[in-house]
Amino acid sequence: MRHVAVYPGTFDPVTYGHLDIIKRASKLFDQVVIGVLNNSAKSPLFSVDERVKILEETTRDIENVIVDSFNGLSVDFARKWEAGVIVRGLRLITDFEFELQMAQTNRKLAPEVDTTFLYTSLQYSYLSSTTVREVAEFGGNITEFVPPYVEEQIRRKLGYIDKENQKNEQQQN
Ligand code: ADP
Repeated sequence: MRHVAVYPGTFDPVTYGHLDIIKRASKLFDQVVIGVLNNSAKSPLFSVDERVKILEETTRDIENVIVDSFNGLSVDFARKWEAGVIVRGLRLITDFEFELQMAQTNRKLAPEVDTTFLYTSLQYSYLSSTTVREVAEFGGNITEFVPPYVEEQIRRKLGYIDKENQKNEQQQN
């Protein structure tokens, strides 16, 4: 039997913390499907399609990982992919209460789907997409938080790359 797991989240943007969980999950399961949540309530920096593309680029070396988007419940996404497991990452103990509540709710909704928690590697335990967005918006260095491709997409989205190009053009003229 193939063991399929889904890893749902917002991934706005994907960080080294998420990638650490994805790599570790890919060793535990035959197939890992990353589920990018289309959550309009959160007014994300990147659209769902952009987040899917960024995740595809950053996980292209991991053979048994695919990326899909979804609306609604994680358990329905798990059923769609016939996954027996939902993977969630835990950083600090503060994540635990919310995650446990969600896992218990999901078990009620879909008893055939189990939730597995993977603890993040210590060096990423402080890292969140929100922090990355905030640091980037104020022009801080995010090299240690996200891969170079993601950094470039963030800088493009925030208009830094355009501004730098304009500056270079002005200096040349
Ligand atoms: P959500 O809005 O569902 O929390 P996120 O994209 O923020 O979506 O996170 C998706 C999953 O990845 C969650 O289980 C979250 O706890 C986990 N996660 C987020 N950041 C990290 C990190 N630095 N290390 C490990 N897991 C993380």
